[in-house]
Amino acid sequence: MKISEIKTYVLKAELENHGFGWSQRVTDRRQTAICEVVTDRGISGLGEAFYFGGPADIAAAIMKDALGPLLIGKDPFDTCVIWDSLYNYTRDQGMKGLTLSAISGIDIALWDIKGKALGLPVYKLLGGAYRNRARVYATGLYEPQNASNIADALAQEALGYKKEGFTGMKLKIGYGIRTDLKYIKAVREAIGEDLYLMVDANHAYNAAEAIRLAREMERFDIYWFEEPVPPEDVDGYLEVKQNSSILITGGECEYTRYGFRELINRRAVDILQPDLCATGGFSEMMKIIAMASAANVPVIPHVWGTNVGLAASLQLFAALPHFPERRFPQEPFFEYDRSPHPLRQGVTREKFVTEQGYLKIPDGPGLGVSLDMDFIKKYTAR
Ligand code: CA
Repeated sequence: MKISEIKTYVLKAELENHGFGWSQRVTDRRQTAICEVVTDRGISGLGEAFYFGGPADIAAAIMKDALGPLLIGKDPFDTCVIWDSLYNYTRDQGMKGLTLSAISGIDIALWDIKGKALGLPVYKLLGGAYRNRARVYATGLYEPQNASNIADALAQEALGYKKEGFTGMKLKIGYGIRTDLKYIKAVREAIGEDLYLMVDANHAYNAAEAIRLAREMERFDIYWFEEPVPPEDVDGYLEVKQNSSILITGGECEYTRYGFRELINRRAVDILQPDLCATGGFSEMMKIIAMASAANVPVIPHVWGTNVGLAASLQLFAALPHFPERRFPQEPFFEYDRSPHPLRQGVTREKFVTEQGYLKIPDGPGLGVSLDMDFIKKYTAR
């Protein structure tokens, strides 16, 4: 089997009610870059490149125009060989960021092809399923742009997740310590004591601010504090971690085994959060997980994007080991983005629905999803 063509789809949609905000900015639109790797045997595979903020057109151009020509004629089963050649080709200017998102999208598509060719779900090729369903937490609770009282609006949204059966949810913070505490209090009081509550500052603070906030948050029983400081500030992460009783997490802005080496070796976080669609796809993610497992640092992947990225992340999640293995292991949480996204469900014919706080992991060949081409055409950016 040989790769014969690389197709990309850039989709864009505007959000209602002026979109939503977080500690870094406000967005009024969603977009995505999906790739389809076609082979001479009639099997094609799907992948999605993580992007946020930058135009998805750039990720698509890297996949199709920069990397695409290197793939033609290659055997899609040679995933590690192809990965190393693509990375090395772009290494001098592309060790992190959108280039890696593009490599991720292509790598995911190659694994989809392998699964379809063998008639097996990708998780089987990754070593098998530790679980066949994913306990999800709701990522939402962004700053609404049309609410007169933001704390009240967040409390209402949080209650909605509780009613839907979610056992955990994540609140955006990083607006300043006093504002953060007001939102945290409102959400915790709305959902009660039993549910897990995580907070995510999207690297809004320096270490001193983050430590002060972590201490103030302790009384609200916060499960983890995500990206307290900028990703480059590894010493800041260590300082916060050593001075917080709340678990410190990060890694969605880090890339490849090379990038994760320092976070793992220095034990900078309590939980690593690499994103499958950014850090390098399945091939690279399995190496990062192996390194983390050797250091006994838990991995709970970051998940974002449409159903294509979601389906891929669910395959990975099935094959995610325990940190550590034991008789009654801690079940990891799967990140389930609930923020407004007009493109999320429509891109695939298969739809994802939670049942009592769980998502079923597809067991069809490959990623287990296929594109809805009518939807894709409708939202393709011109
Ligand atoms: Ca995050």
